[in-house]
Amino acid sequence: MPSHLERLRHLLGEVFDLRAASAVLEWDQQVNMPPGGAPNRAAQLSTIGRLAHETFISDEVGAELDAAQGEAASLDPDSDDARLVRKVRRDYTKARKVPAEFVGEFARVSALAQGAWTRARPADDFASFAPHLEQVFEMRRQYADFFAPYDHRYDAMLDDFEPGLKAAQVKAVFDELRPRQVALVRAIQERGRPVDDAFLHLDYDLQKQWDFGVEIARAYGYDFNRGRQDKSAHPFTTSFGLGDVRITTRFYPKLLTSSIFSTMHETGHALYDQGSKPSLDRTPLLGGTSLAIHESQSRMWENFVGRSRAFWSGFFPRLQALFPSQLNKVDVEAFYRAINKVQPSLIRVEADEATYNLHIMLRFDLELALAEKSLDVRHLPEQWNAKMKEYLGLTPPDDKDGVLQDVHWSTGYMGYFPTYALGNLIAAQLWERIQADLPALHQEIARGQFGSLLAWLREHIHQHGGKFEPVELLQRVVGGGLSAQPYLRYLESKFGEIYGLS
Ligand code: ZN
Repeated sequence: MPSHLERLRHLLGEVFDLRAASAVLEWDQQVNMPPGGAPNRAAQLSTIGRLAHETFISDEVGAELDAAQGEAASLDPDSDDARLVRKVRRDYTKARKVPAEFVGEFARVSALAQGAWTRARPADDFASFAPHLEQVFEMRRQYADFFAPYDHRYDAMLDDFEPGLKAAQVKAVFDELRPRQVALVRAIQERGRPVDDAFLHLDYDLQKQWDFGVEIARAYGYDFNRGRQDKSAHPFTTSFGLGDVRITTRFYPKLLTSSIFSTMHETGHALYDQGSKPSLDRTPLLGGTSLAIHESQSRMWENFVGRSRAFWSGFFPRLQALFPSQLNKVDVEAFYRAINKVQPSLIRVEADEATYNLHIMLRFDLELALAEKSLDVRHLPEQWNAKMKEYLGLTPPDDKDGVLQDVHWSTGYMGYFPTYALGNLIAAQLWERIQADLPALHQEIARGQFGSLLAWLREHIHQHGGKFEPVELLQRVVGGGLSAQPYLRYLESKFGEIYGLS
């Protein structure tokens, strides 16, 4: 007779399979699907999404969960099973508040909106996308209201990505960051030290860019036997289980850094997902514990490692060998400064480290207003442009490189963007601890060796999957809560040195 814990695991395994099947369809939608496939795909995602939700919120799961909770009471509270029950109790209580028809309808509406965004962005046609976006936001507000009462409607949206985080906390952290980031960017601009990055915008063969990205992903430790890389309009990482964690990237012939850093970034996500311990596979504990912790991994591999002087002292000769005519007159120091050039720009995913969080604060402000319904979708482009001017001093020439630049809103990810900035902060908190624990880290990175860094992350972060909530995980690893100070120290030290600020 199987225990209730075993029966619960079996039911959760079926929910996992349905969600993984949806993820395969979503991956295909962004990588392979012809445009005409959108309506069928929306129906498929709607059906599977509803089935997964119905299975999860069933009375059967509820009964097994109640009984399993009794069995888990005698276990070590940090054991997989005790943590599984705790996590499932939280998710189950939340999911029971949302009707299955709503989940199916939201999957359909957002799949259609994503298709509309895919057409609208290249055509610079916000008007054709706006009705879809309005529908997605309206449903997202309805979703949040299933969890009323709340301090702020946005809290319920955040909670999907960052369990327990509140809008007020995000606002407080951003208020701490904003003045020093703005001051740093201003000091760099006033210093007026020119950085030449023209050589990054020459013609770079796409196949060689691809090969170089794959070489880095492999060196970082990405397991291609349990993953693959493809091209998509917006780079992403997706997981269908421990044995299949995929990444995508995109290429521009005249922007060498785009594919390199997006590949590093997605590899960072994938390393986290590939690093769960095997006993968590096919359970809700597989993969990352929150989006911000996830983003701390991607941003660490992209920036703390990938934009460091140490990394390029090893890899630049290799890049030069691939692109001799473009790079043979450039030395590694000039390359290092070029890839760390600080310049307010329109596109978030291409933003430098000093301005990146300002792009997030802009989106956070707009999302808060959208959640409160104090901003109408029709006025979103002009509000976007006004904030862009206020935070970065720029006015987008069109919506394509303005309000239409991200796929996330079309997929219903309202409450998601703050996790990007929080990921930067957490990466810096972890990095200070890692440097203390691994004194030879920079020499190893310079030799192209990343094994001890990955092993550290596996031990302290990856293997646990979703066993510990983000606040608890951070407490365990760095001995404190979320803090903006390490990231500000990192930024001011790195760019103070590059730009010769006092
Ligand atoms: Zn990311």
